[in-house]
Amino acid sequence: MSLSIRFWGTRGSLPSTLDHSHVQRKVAQALKMANGRNFKNDEEILSFIKEQLPFSVRGTYGTNTPCVSISKNENAPLLLDGGSGLRDAGLIKRDFKEQHMLLSHLHWDHIQGIPFYRYLYESDFHLIVHSCHPEAEMALREQMSAPFFPVNFDNVKAKVSIEIHKEQEPFDAGGFSVVAAKQVHPGDSYCHKIMADGLSVVYSTDAGCLDPKQNVSECPDVFIGADVLIYDAMLSEEEALNTKVDWGHSCSIAAIELAASANVKNLVLIHHDSICTDKELDERYADALIYAENARKLGAWDKNVLQSIVMSYDGLELKV
Ligand SMILES: [Zn+2]
Ligand SMILES: [Zn+2]
Repeated sequence: MSLSIRFWGTRGSLPSTLDHSHVQRKVAQALKMANGRNFKNDEEILSFIKEQLPFSVRGTYGTNTPCVSISKNENAPLLLDGGSGLRDAGLIKRDFKEQHMLLSHLHWDHIQGIPFYRYLYESDFHLIVHSCHPEAEMALREQMSAPFFPVNFDNVKAKVSIEIHKEQEPFDAGGFSVVAAKQVHPGDSYCHKIMADGLSVVYSTDAGCLDPKQNVSECPDVFIGADVLIYDAMLSEEEALNTKVDWGHSCSIAAIELAASANVKNLVLIHHDSICTDKELDERYADALIYAENARKLGAWDKNVLQSIVMSYDGLELKV
């Protein structure tokens, strides 16, 4: 049995920009790297693009704020957060009538896609939202009320239920077994461990770590042995250590150290800074891989630990 994880939105705080100047720079860089090559056919062009060009030139990390879905069998995908990526999740054809969503917290970048979820305007749909914040219903109602939004929360055609949970108390969400744990973040945020068919995925965004290299003892129990840890890496190491130490976010070095200390098998970095260009994110990813490689050479980890480190992007699909 396997799980499919789809990333609909991977940027943090605010949807990010990808305007004509960014695209022009990508095209210019691609032409420069292709200079002097003689392509015989489209196939050769495509393999050059896929194999020779850096991700930031041939693609983009995307622009949407956090939304991830996890699917197994024919069950409806379990939604993790409702950032602007949720709009895209609603563009696919729906073959289910009921769906569950886990909210990490109520900051705008994690709920702003909900009013734009197409299925909310279909009468045969039921969305069940799970949150550890007692004020979740108030937040969802307020963002769908005048003068913020033209459609009132009570006037959507679908049924919307909101269930409030306590951390560390397991619950079921659409056939997935879930447990939440509190994180360091302004106003609190919660990570979720999602289990099904003997596999576990931990979604942990908007999570602060005071000292990226030393404070691994704060690793939540729910991280231990996870098949996949999706973790906040919004900050640079300098920001995490100094200038943005109390922002409730983390960096890739902290993510790697936490994941390794918890014997996590695969790490996925998310909540990329909305101000970072694709090239800057490529550089951050390269630095993270070098850090991990050096730690591995020093024999810091067992070989089953951190088998992969992935930089998520809008549209990424992973199989576990
Ligand atoms: Zn956020
Ligand atoms: Zn937040």
